[in-house]
Amino acid sequence: NKVSTSGPVMPGAWLGMIGGGQLGRMFCHAAQALGYKVAVLDPDENSPAGAVADHHFCAAYDDATALAALSARCEAITTEFENVPAQSLRTLSESARVSPSADAVAIVQDRIREKAFIDDAGVAVAPYVAVTQASAIATAPDGLFPGILKAARLGYDGKGQARVKTREEALAAFEQFGRVPCVLEAMLPLQSEFSIVIARGADGDTVSYPLAQNEHRDGILAVSSVDAALVAIAAADQGAAAADKIARALDYVGVLCVEFFVLRDGSVVANEIAPRPHNSGHYTMDACISSQFEQQARAMSGLPLGSTAILCPAVMLNILGDVWFGQDGTKREPDWVAVLAVPGAKLHLYGKAEARRGRKMGHVNILGATLHEAQSRAAQVAHALN
Ligand code: ADP
Ligand code: MG
Repeated sequence: NKVSTSGPVMPGAWLGMIGGGQLGRMFCHAAQALGYKVAVLDPDENSPAGAVADHHFCAAYDDATALAALSARCEAITTEFENVPAQSLRTLSESARVSPSADAVAIVQDRIREKAFIDDAGVAVAPYVAVTQASAIATAPDGLFPGILKAARLGYDGKGQARVKTREEALAAFEQFGRVPCVLEAMLPLQSEFSIVIARGADGDTVSYPLAQNEHRDGILAVSSVDAALVAIAAADQGAAAADKIARALDYVGVLCVEFFVLRDGSVVANEIAPRPHNSGHYTMDACISSQFEQQARAMSGLPLGSTAILCPAVMLNILGDVWFGQDGTKREPDWVAVLAVPGAKLHLYGKAEARRGRKMGHVNILGATLHEAQSRAAQVAHALN
């Protein structure tokens, strides 16, 4: 057992990343800027992170040989997605520092455990029932309809979810999902959505970023807006306190995001937790002193956490594969020249070969002296993309 927890893992050492998606790619860039080498484990030979890593172990997330090689090379290992087998993290932790822990990830990757955990931590969640058999839907309180049936595992970007008006629709959706474990939650009257990214070090030191106000389209994040003034909204304090409670209760090390709903009556409920940097935190790459990815490298290495101070208001626009399709459905290349001509626009593309509708291909952070300026520039970027 070579796990050393005394003292930080210094720049120059190898860090391990499980998962080769865009979050892993942006982590590589940030960790490499700090002087680390990064090894990525991902089964896709064309993964966005594998393409920029110092080494790519191209193997399944539970491949024993690859896991052994990863932990032999890397002093500290983290993950970019919640669906990594918790057992892999447990195995890796026998020979490397692993954060977040297998236990924390195991909770967050299962909506049934996640909801119960948030509730137990004393943070409000949407009214829900766990559904492992049809009878749970048959006996669910009337107040859960209209509702949303969400598969407990492997959902993202609104996938694995069905909006159900009635008990009958919920039963039909449960059958359609193949009777996998689900949560059925009440459809809430949302006034707005926001999220908070926090980072927690092994010593319990915690820093949090300003909240991002989020707009989703078709269940996928479309726009995040951030301005120090938003911190003044009433929900901000409640959200920050809730995120802190959750991180503490999970004994969390690393970067974590909590998504929140603000209801029409002004109350705040936590929606879900991501055990990693989050799409709504991408603005930190250009608008904050330390990005959420740099923070992930610092936290896993036992370094002091960076400043989360925001330097200027920002709007983040996601770029989905849809913009590669013209009005008539033919493929085209988006007009990057027009995007980059907008003052304050910072383009981030993930190097994915194939554009598909609904697929996250990149994002643009748009900065301005005021939120209003960032928003009007963002409108120009959106226009250039459409
Ligand atoms: P995902 O894992 O796909 O992000 P979420 O649970 O965050 O799943 O749901 C995606 C989006 O669907 C949310 O950001 C929100 O816009 C909407 N949504 C989810 N749950 C509810 C709910 N209980 N009431 C109203 N809208 C919801
Ligand atoms: Mg979500």
